Amino acid sequence: MTETGIAIIGAGAAGHSAATTLRQEGYQGSITVVHADHQGPYNRTLVNKAVLQGLLTPEQIALPTLDGLGINVVADRAVALDADRRAVRLDQGGGLTYGAVIIATGAKPRQTVVHTEGLRGRVFTIHTTEDATRIRDRLSTGTPEQISVTILGAGFIGAETASYLTDIGVNVDLVSRDITPLTGAVGQDIGQSITELHHKHVRTHFGREIIKVSGNSHTVTVLLDDQTTLTSEIVIVAHGTVPSTDWIGNPTGGGIVVDDRLRAETIEHGYAAGAVAVHRSLAGVGYRIDHWDAAAAQGAHAARAFLHDHYDAPDPGPYVPTTGFALQLYRTSIAAFGALLPHSRQESTDLEPAGSHTTAFFSDDGRMHAIAGINAGRTLHSMRSNLNRP
Ligand SMILES: Cc1cc2nc3c(=O)[nH]c(=O)nc-3n(C[C@H](O)[C@H](O)[C@H](O)COP(=O)(O)OP(=O)(O)OC[C@H]3O[C@@H](n4cnc5c(N)ncnc54)[C@H](O)[C@@H]3O)c2cc1C
Repeated sequence: MTETGIAIIGAGAAGHSAATTLRQEGYQGSITVVHADHQGPYNRTLVNKAVLQGLLTPEQIALPTLDGLGINVVADRAVALDADRRAVRLDQGGGLTYGAVIIATGAKPRQTVVHTEGLRGRVFTIHTTEDATRIRDRLSTGTPEQISVTILGAGFIGAETASYLTDIGVNVDLVSRDITPLTGAVGQDIGQSITELHHKHVRTHFGREIIKVSGNSHTVTVLLDDQTTLTSEIVIVAHGTVPSTDWIGNPTGGGIVVDDRLRAETIEHGYAAGAVAVHRSLAGVGYRIDHWDAAAAQGAHAARAFLHDHYDAPDPGPYVPTTGFALQLYRTSIAAFGALLPHSRQESTDLEPAGSHTTAFFSDDGRMHAIAGINAGRTLHSMRSNLNRP
C-alpha cells in the first residue's frame, strides 16, 4: 500500500475504537481522525440518559482524548470522498489523502416531519448533545407536571425517552405505527411485555398513523388517523435512523455494504464500521446494527482487518455480532445480545409471571444468533458465549 496512512471519518463508538485499536495493535503509521462533533467526540448513548435529564453536562460525556496516541484529530465535516484519488474533501476547504479509509460516520435521525414551518423550537429529534440541551431548555420553562411532550416513534430512543420524561413528571403521549413496537429488535413476546409497560405508564397511541403535525409558537398539534388530536408543548420525533452517507454522494441514505471483514464492497481501500455499515446475513439479507457496543466492536474489527490486509497481521476472521445493548424502561431492564435479523425465528420463550425474568432465543440455520430478556441480565450473560456456535 502507498504509505500515506489511514484516515478514519467519524469519531463516535466505531471511529474512536478503530483509532485506539490501531495503536494498541502496534500500528505506527499516521492516523487522521475527522469528526463533525462541535464539542468533540462523545458517548451518544448518554444524550438522552444523562444530558436530557441534566445528570451530566455535554462535556462530562466526552470520549477519552486521542491526543496522547499521536493521532491527528481534525474537527471538520467530510463533504466528499474521491476513492480513485484516495482523497477526502473537508467542509472548511481543506482535505486529506489516505492509504486506506475507515468510514465510521454513524447514522442520523430519519426526517419524517418535514413541514416544520411555524414549529421552530417545538419539534425536535434527539440525537446530539445540542438536541438534548435544546429540549431541556424547553422543558425548564415550566414545572414538569405542566409540560406535555408527544413522542413520535416507540423504538429504542422513543421508548427510553418516554420513560425518562415520565420519571421526572412530564406528561407523555407516545405514538407508534406498530401495535407492538420493538418486536423487530427483541421478538414478539418481549415486545408485548414492553408494550404493556408503556400502556401502564404513558398515554399510548399504538397502531396509529400520523396525518398532520401543525402548531404555533406555543403548542404543537399532532392529528392521528383515528382523528385524535394531541396538543403538547413539544414533539420529539424518534422514527429511527438512516446511515450518514450523504457526504459520499448517497443522499438517499443507503449504508455502506461491507464484506465479513468489514471491507467496503464498492470503495477500494475502504472499510466501514458502526451504524453506517450494512452487513449481509447468511441468507443474503442486508442489515445494520445501531448499538454502541456493536459499533465499537466493528471499529476494532475493521482496524484489525486493515492491519491484516496491509501489514500481514493475523486475520481477525469474519465479524460476528455478539455484543449487546441494555435499556431501562420504567425501572424494568431489557437487554439483548447478538443481532436479530429480518428473517430471525424466535425459537423459544421462557415467560414467567410478571416481575420475574423473561428470556427469548432466536436462531437461523440451526444456530442461536440472538438472545433477549427482561430482568434477565445474568441469564443472558451466561448464554452469550453460545451465540453463533454451530
Ligand atoms: C439518544 C441516543 C441514545 C442511545 N442509547 C443507546 C444505548 O443505550 N445503547 C446502545 O447500544 N446504543 C444506543 N444508541 C445508539 C448508539 O449511540 C449508536 O449505535 C452508536 O453511537 C453508533 O456508533 P457509530 O460510531 O457508528 O456512530 P456515532 O457514535 O454516531 O459517531 C458518528 C461520528 O461520525 C461523525 N460524522 C458524521 N458525519 C460526518 C462527516 N460527514 N464528516 C465527519 N464526521 C462525521 C460524527 O461527528 C461522529 O463523530 C443511542 C443513540 C441515541 C441517539
